Amino acid sequence: MSEKKIPLIWQIGIGFVLGIAAGAMLGEKIQWVEPVGRIFIVLLQMLIVPLVFSSLVVGAASIGDPRDLGRIGIKTVVLYLLTTAIAITIGLLLGNVLQPGVGMAIGGGAAEFKAPAAPDIKSVILGLFPSNALRAAVEGNMLQIIVFALFLGVAAVFAGEKGKPLVNFFDSLAETMYKLTGMVMKIAPYGVFALIAVTVSKYGVSVLAPFAKVILAVYAGCIIHVLLVYSGLISIFVRKSPFWFLRGIREAALTAFVTRSSAATLPITMRNTQENLGVSEKVSSFVLPLGATINMDGTALYQGVCALFVAQAYGLSLGMGAQLSIILTATLASIGTAGVPGAGLIMLTLVLTAVGLPVEGVALVAGIDAVLDMARTCVNIVGDSCVATVVAATEGEKL
Ligand code: ASP
Repeated sequence: MSEKKIPLIWQIGIGFVLGIAAGAMLGEKIQWVEPVGRIFIVLLQMLIVPLVFSSLVVGAASIGDPRDLGRIGIKTVVLYLLTTAIAITIGLLLGNVLQPGVGMAIGGGAAEFKAPAAPDIKSVILGLFPSNALRAAVEGNMLQIIVFALFLGVAAVFAGEKGKPLVNFFDSLAETMYKLTGMVMKIAPYGVFALIAVTVSKYGVSVLAPFAKVILAVYAGCIIHVLLVYSGLISIFVRKSPFWFLRGIREAALTAFVTRSSAATLPITMRNTQENLGVSEKVSSFVLPLGATINMDGTALYQGVCALFVAQAYGLSLGMGAQLSIILTATLASIGTAGVPGAGLIMLTLVLTAVGLPVEGVALVAGIDAVLDMARTCVNIVGDSCVATVVAATEGEKL
């Protein structure tokens, strides 16, 4: 069989398996492939701003009525918050049951960590509106880009005939960006190979073994969340089998796993959600970029597990009240987490501070954070796609 006939997802899967084998067998000798992985990530990042902006303008213009936009927005945000809160609860349950930090020898001389300031509501709301749309684009400020694109799309509809060429222009740009995404995907098998090989080569069994229980808790939590919450939502609201959904999103899931970035994976999440799950551009172009920025179920779950892990490692007990406040702060922290590798670790300091745990506890997790980041990023984007699919179904789309 010629290489062309192998479906892309299989090529990516083969890259993934070979990457693990190469990393495990060759160790440091494989690290020269790192630039291949970097190039893949950079190419994906290159797509984000023009892809999101153009498809969102077209999406907003096709919704047209701001009231419809408001309804879709409310459904999306409610589902995002709900699934995040459930994810942390699962994380806390597993942290209580598996007790990953009990008997942990705390490494002395932990590095100093400073918790970022908790976001205050006023500046979060003010920060949504760009004073300069071009700057928002240059800085890749996703929320500001979303807000401006929505305004532009709706205004173009109000502008009537004169607004049409603008919408057509962005329609053409969006189509071209989808094509370009397809082209970048062609190198995905090599990118995935390089990224996973380098990660595996860095983490030997000796690094991971002392943390086996935390890793187990986070991975088990992620699997439970996907099987229970996402499968449940898809069965109830979309009336389709969870396998249909998971098959549809697997390219993006694997890419998120190796890139550890929801933002970089976004072009593939959009492509999979539209092409495989049949969600319209109108819904997916709004729900997915928003999700890649604010919806982080995997991160929230991880923060729940890690807060308990740190408490147990330091021999501190967390009562019911403290655990409830973890649900609240971890929801906020996950919203504020950027979709880039390792961002969740920084926001963990916020959660630890909120319940009075030593911030230095972050140092305990830091060494293995990349391994946890893979699972949580994967869940983060699967969650975005699940909500987009559910919203589309409830908007009457035929999936
Ligand atoms: N890497 C995660 C993401 O991009 C964020 C995190 O570090 O939790 O979704």
